[in-house]
Amino acid sequence: MLEFAERTITVRIDTAACGACATKACVAACETYSRGILRLSDGLPSVEHLAPSEVVRKGTECLACEYACRVRGEGALSIEIPIEGLDAYRAALAAATPPGAPGEEG
Ligand code: SF4
Repeated sequence: MLEFAERTITVRIDTAACGACATKACVAACETYSRGILRLSDGLPSVEHLAPSEVVRKGTECLACEYACRVRGEGALSIEIPIEGLDAYRAALAAATPPGAPGEEG
């Protein structure tokens, strides 16, 4: 498992799945749409060529790696994006939504 932080997000890669990945699409996406903080090391995505502070500084939080992995890779990469107040917003929305209304889960 590779885990690293950017400014506000956390990227997690289940590198056990990456060996079977023929595309390594996350690395190409990072190079194309961001600043190339993901590189291959021994055939696996890695940020070990950068100090953690440089990963934070260079990361653009573009999410391209997650999309590329889902569409062209093995679905091994996920990004956690904390959004302050989201849980409270969802609770308030659920409380204000009549039963049976579109989007109502209960
Ligand atoms: S695209 Fe996904 S499965 Fe492929 S190397 Fe990157 S993180 Fe691993």
